[in-house]
Amino acid sequence: MILTVGDEVQSFDYDPDIDAVNVMTVHASKGLEFECVFIVNCVAERFPTRQRKDKIPLPEKFIHEKLPEGDFHLQEERRLFYVGATRAKKYLFLSAGEDYGGKRCKKLSRFILEFLNNPALIKEKRKLTGLEKIERFRPIKLARPRKSKGTLPAKLTQAQIDDYYTCPKKYYYSNVIKIPLPVNWHFMYGTAIHNAVGRYFEKKMRGKKTTLKDLICDFEKSYDNEGFITREQEEIRRHTGIETLKRFFRQAQKDDFIPDAVEKKFSFQIGGVKISGRYDLVKTQNGQTEIFDYKTSDVENQQGATRRINQSTQMVVYALSEFLANGKIPKTTLVFIESDLSASKIFKPEKLEETKKMILDVAEGIKNENYQSKPDIRTCSWCPFNGICAEAKK
Ligand code: SF4
Repeated sequence: MILTVGDEVQSFDYDPDIDAVNVMTVHASKGLEFECVFIVNCVAERFPTRQRKDKIPLPEKFIHEKLPEGDFHLQEERRLFYVGATRAKKYLFLSAGEDYGGKRCKKLSRFILEFLNNPALIKEKRKLTGLEKIERFRPIKLARPRKSKGTLPAKLTQAQIDDYYTCPKKYYYSNVIKIPLPVNWHFMYGTAIHNAVGRYFEKKMRGKKTTLKDLICDFEKSYDNEGFITREQEEIRRHTGIETLKRFFRQAQKDDFIPDAVEKKFSFQIGGVKISGRYDLVKTQNGQTEIFDYKTSDVENQQGATRRINQSTQMVVYALSEFLANGKIPKTTLVFIESDLSASKIFKPEKLEETKKMILDVAEGIKNENYQSKPDIRTCSWCPFNGICAEAKK
């Protein structure tokens, strides 16, 4: 529907910690998993789409690669359907309508028929009845926008707290007016590395071995070419990812610890606001719990890694969460997977108290709709809205 009204479906806004329906293309869902997935528009000429010929076809003599045999477009669409269907952890819904505005009803997608292997579902194309055509003009009941000013947000994710604390205007752009961002390869690349590392530790936790080939295969499964400007750029990044994972693998093979949890969800309450998020990895050794977060962003040296953890609102929120749950302050560790560096910290009790206050201030600011910008050269240089923000410091 979003595409029908001429808008774009972006995946960048996807945040696994926000309990919400995510609307995205099948391409953008690559590498992600959800409890429940709906694949809509499973009708002929929509999924699979009708093949569109290139406006200026490239003569075959200029194509040096071996072209695939058979109906390449259909095979690609079938692969895409497979990607969409395998995103579901528990429930998969395939939906199809009959009336998409044409004179005739749409036929069910051949992929549904193949998937369910049920010939009884095959129906002939038929003309719409007069009543069905009139139904198209039934008035639509629009939901009233929710009034939120003056009330504390019921829930906040750790990422939203981080956004608001860094710059309230950034929170406003991403969470209030929800400005869509262009597909970004950094996000895709980070997710692909993250998924591969996550699977490695999940298997380790279950007592299963992962080979380097498995690890790279998990990375490739989530890797996509969206957001890259050139093929060369994409290949360089793919190569960097594989080299990074090789280094990670060599190091991880030497560590004999078994994680307590991978991608562990957490939540706690502060002043009536539910804070939620997830830890990448948790381990306990000699009675000390350690929470890890894996980053694909680069740091140049140990000093840079230490500075990052000292300034990290993310890690101090993790520490607070664990402290409120178990009464012990955990060790927190940031691992910069590309630079092969890490930094650890055990936050002091005073810092956790300050963090509680910071969270309350953030919630109050959102309640009062205070979205005053906090421009700063460093923050603005990383901010995805610096191209449109009038207050950006450059
Ligand atoms: S560009 Fe700077 S001032 Fe603007 S929203 Fe981002 S961080 Fe805030």
